[in-house]
Amino acid sequence: MIKAVVFDIDNTLYDYDAAHEIAFGAVTGFAVRSLGLTAAGFRDLHRKSDEILRSRVGTVTAAIHNRLLRYQILLEQIHAPVFYAPRMSELYWTVFLSAVEPYPGLTACAAALKAAPLLVGIGTNMTAMYQYAKLERLGILQDIDFIVTSEEAGSEKPDRRLFDCCVEKAGCPASECVFVGDSLENDALGAQSAGLLPVWLCTRPPENPPELPAGVRRIGSLAERPARVGGL
Ligand SMILES: [Mg+2]
Repeated sequence: MIKAVVFDIDNTLYDYDAAHEIAFGAVTGFAVRSLGLTAAGFRDLHRKSDEILRSRVGTVTAAIHNRLLRYQILLEQIHAPVFYAPRMSELYWTVFLSAVEPYPGLTACAAALKAAPLLVGIGTNMTAMYQYAKLERLGILQDIDFIVTSEEAGSEKPDRRLFDCCVEKAGCPASECVFVGDSLENDALGAQSAGLLPVWLCTRPPENPPELPAGVRRIGSLAERPARVGGL
């Protein structure tokens, strides 16, 4: 019997790629105006800063997503004042959050799962602060019973520690927890190897979709019947 349904956030509850593109464009504009960089130059520096950050952090934990650190490293590379780093981070997140819109069916899906009644959880690779801000913006924070971020778990999906933490918070066996996410590898297969029931949300089917691994349920939208989303 299913007791809990746990959701990834980015590209599962809303279109992360679209929001990121808009926010990244805003920060690029800032860099062109205030730092004298070209858009292409900023993109290259951004990529290099990301590599430096990952290498310094040394492990795959939530700190690798910290945009303040990434912008700080970027500014240090061009000997520009780190004074700009918090401004760039704030600009990115302000624009990003204003661009976040729930996927069709999200609100109804969360409400129906709560009414079932099932526990509704979050299992996400990212720092807690902005994941909370996204859930607030999406209007579903009040429906969430527990949240696991990679910042708290100390590891990122598909590492099973994050899934184990979700199961611990759900307070039931892993076999009674559904995990819904857009990444076949990080979400569905990661959840499955930790013993949860995997649901792969595939909103943009690839031209040559991979063969669905045994035990993985595939859905195309959160607007499908909530019971189906919940794997019931
Ligand atoms: Mg995702």
